[in-house]
Amino acid sequence: MQKSCSCGATMKIRLRTVIFQNKMEIENVPIYSCDDCQRSEVFPPVKSQLTGYIRSLGSNPKAGSVLFNDISELAHLLHKVTNKDNKHLPVVTIIEDRINELLDLLLLAQSLGDAEWREDLHVRLKQITNYMTATYRLS
Ligand SMILES: [Zn+2]
Repeated sequence: MQKSCSCGATMKIRLRTVIFQNKMEIENVPIYSCDDCQRSEVFPPVKSQLTGYIRSLGSNPKAGSVLFNDISELAHLLHKVTNKDNKHLPVVTIIEDRINELLDLLLLAQSLGDAEWREDLHVRLKQITNYMTATYRLS
């Protein structure tokens, strides 16, 4: 979960609040930041989701705040990983637990015949598996 900055220092990932048009607060957005040169960038795997969400707000959004970890499954996982209650747990265990939890919910959604919920869970599972595959391929 670390990345090198163009200045040579190590960038750390943190959950931050992004403020859009001075009124819409998007909390818990995973952002890489460098303590040395203050450069920061959105965690690449969630970038398209964040821009898609901002686009969906339109040009004149209502003031308010939203939790990005409710929208993005990866942000949700990072939120769990960085929570100090989970400090003792390896990241892979947290990810596996979440996958199992989503699979349980998927069974429940299926038995209830809730197509919308099932679709949402499918998207969430795909976000995790796509990210895992990309990580393993690149490392
Ligand atoms: Zn830097």
